[in-house]
This record gives sequence, structure tokens and C-alpha cells, in this order.
Amino acid sequence: MKNLLLLTFTFLGLYHLQGQHTHISEHALTYPNIEGFQTLKTDLHIHTVFSDGYVWPTIRVQEALRENLDAISLTEHLEYQPHEADIPHPDRNRSYDLALAEAKEHDLLIVHGSEITRSAPMGHSNAVFISDANPLLQKNAEKAFSEAKKQNAFVFWNHPAWHAQSPTGNPILSDFQKERIKKGELHGIEVINTFDYAEEALAIALEQNLTIMGTSDIHGLISWDYDEKGSNRPITLVFAKEKSLESLQEALVEGRTVAVYNSLMIGKPEYLIPLIHSSVEINSAQYLPNTQILKVELNNNSSSALMFENQMPYTFYSSSPVFEIPAQGSYTLFIKTLKHKEAIDLKLRAIGTYVAPKKSPDVVWKISVEK
Ligand code: ZN
Repeated sequence: MKNLLLLTFTFLGLYHLQGQHTHISEHALTYPNIEGFQTLKTDLHIHTVFSDGYVWPTIRVQEALRENLDAISLTEHLEYQPHEADIPHPDRNRSYDLALAEAKEHDLLIVHGSEITRSAPMGHSNAVFISDANPLLQKNAEKAFSEAKKQNAFVFWNHPAWHAQSPTGNPILSDFQKERIKKGELHGIEVINTFDYAEEALAIALEQNLTIMGTSDIHGLISWDYDEKGSNRPITLVFAKEKSLESLQEALVEGRTVAVYNSLMIGKPEYLIPLIHSSVEINSAQYLPNTQILKVELNNNSSSALMFENQMPYTFYSSSPVFEIPAQGSYTLFIKTLKHKEAIDLKLRAIGTYVAPKKSPDVVWKISVEK
């Protein structure tokens, strides 16, 4: 009887694994689509034991599935191989191959990438959408970038504000980067890397028309560095025509991104404003009986808590002009419109999100009042 029970449990266990093959956890991230585009959640800067990370590539795939990401890239340092004695791998595509095999039965895009690693002023850059990592391993940094261009890669500048390369913690756009931008060999810049947002990197992105990126640059476990601290990893939301590698690359080249780290969102206004607009839904709008106070219920369907400041001529009843709608949560506003209105423009400044250094966008929702 004992054995039979054990057998039954084993069978159920196997059935569970094979029957409902999902890895989604309570840390699954969701962001709404914007008009005309699908919102893809990506982390394109990740390490494993195949450079200076601490985990096997399959774990990176499972972490991404748990968080409901749409695309990741394992971007191993080509030139920095501290585990080489234990894990020698002359073929630098090995990390990608292992991740691709692991992701095969899942709806997760694996972007083939590598990190080109130099000291300042060249710094670190990720080349993603490459076809072969091996020829990128070059003595000469210029040659590595021209090889990436030959492979039609999308290349972005990593942690430009990193204190080990820039002691002020401010990025320095060097002649090397200027030359790469001019030659069409550098297309994006991380404004968020790990826990750091650099306003100065955003200024460079806007000046040089580089794609705005946010990445985790994870070396240990996502769970230890983020989830257990009640936080989410930094990601780049990419607004793509569809969920495919081709569309993802096209969107990155065109700069259709918003970098996200918890409630911090950084992007060009043409993408950040629609994202915030679709993240907040008007659940209901009705006058309180016998008053001119409009009760509006707002729902936040994104994984970022959103902070707002009132920008309307009307003031609020029972609420600070500054308020937060929790991630996946709701908030009720009482707006003193003084007269009964059939419709109003709800105009709020999305503080904590930025379209330029120190500049938060205003977002407007058209509200029709229910009779
Ligand atoms: Zn890195």
C-alpha cells in the first residue's frame, strides 16, 4: 500500500511537470501593449558561468520564464573568462546554444549576443543579434565593432556611468564612441544598469539619438538580487510589430523602447506617454449623490507602481494632489469639478517617470461621466 501510494505520487508529479509546463511565478511581469505595437519585456544584458556569472545558462532561461519575459540575451564577456580553467570553451557560442535548447519548448526569444570588453575610454558594449560570437574576439576594439556591424548586430554602450571606469559616476562620451556612432556601429546606451539610473546617460541618448536601454547585467541569481528584496530586475520594454527576433531588432534600431526599473520608467515621450496611458484604466466615473464631486476609480494594469501629481484646474477631495496607484492595484480619486460635467480631461503628471533628465510627462485620459 505504501509503495502504491508512492507510485501514485510519483506519477502525479510527472503528470504535473509534463501536463502544465509553465514556470510563471508571483514575480511575473506584465505591461500593456500600446496602439500599433506589442510590448515585449526584455533583458539583453545577462552573464553565466561562460564568462564571470555564477549560474548555468539553463537557469537564466528559467528565471526569464518565471518573470514572464519575452526575450533575453546571454552576453558573455568575450575577453574576460575567469572560469576558463574549469569551463574551457573555445566556441564562444556555447552559452547561447545551451539557452536556445532550453527555451525550445517555450515562447521565449533567445537573442544571440556577446559583450565586447575594454577599459575606458572604449568601455563595455553589448553586440546583440550576432550570428557568430567567435570572430568578435579581436585584439583591436575597432575591429571587434566592425565585425559586429558586418554581422548586422545592434550594439549598445553598457553602464556608461560605472564608477570603475568613470570615477565621477558620470558617463564620458569619448572620441571612440563618437566615431562608432558616426560609423553606424553603436546604436543604444544603457540609462539603467543593475540598480543605477544615470540622468547623464539619458542626456547622451537624446543628444546622440541612441536607443534607451535598461538591463540587469545579472551575475548571481535574480531571486537573491531582486525578488527577495521586493524588487524587479531592470528591463527594456520594446514596442515591436510582433513577437519575433526580426521585429524586436527592428524596434530596437528604431528606438521604440522604455527602460523600466520598478516604478522608474525612462523613455521618449512618443512611447512613454502611450505606455502610461494604457497602464491606467478608468474603471468608473460617477458623481457622489447630491454633490459636484466626481468619484473616479483608476486601475493600474502594469507591474510598476505609478506616482502621479494633479495637473487639472480642479482639486481633490480626500486625497493628496500626489498619489500612487500600486502595481496591479487601484486608487479612487474624488475630483471637485464644481459643476456637473458630462466629460472631463483627467490630466496627471507621471512623476517618477522621465522623458528627459528631470522632466516628467503629463498624461491625459478622457473621462466620460456615467449617468
Ligand atoms: Zn556585462
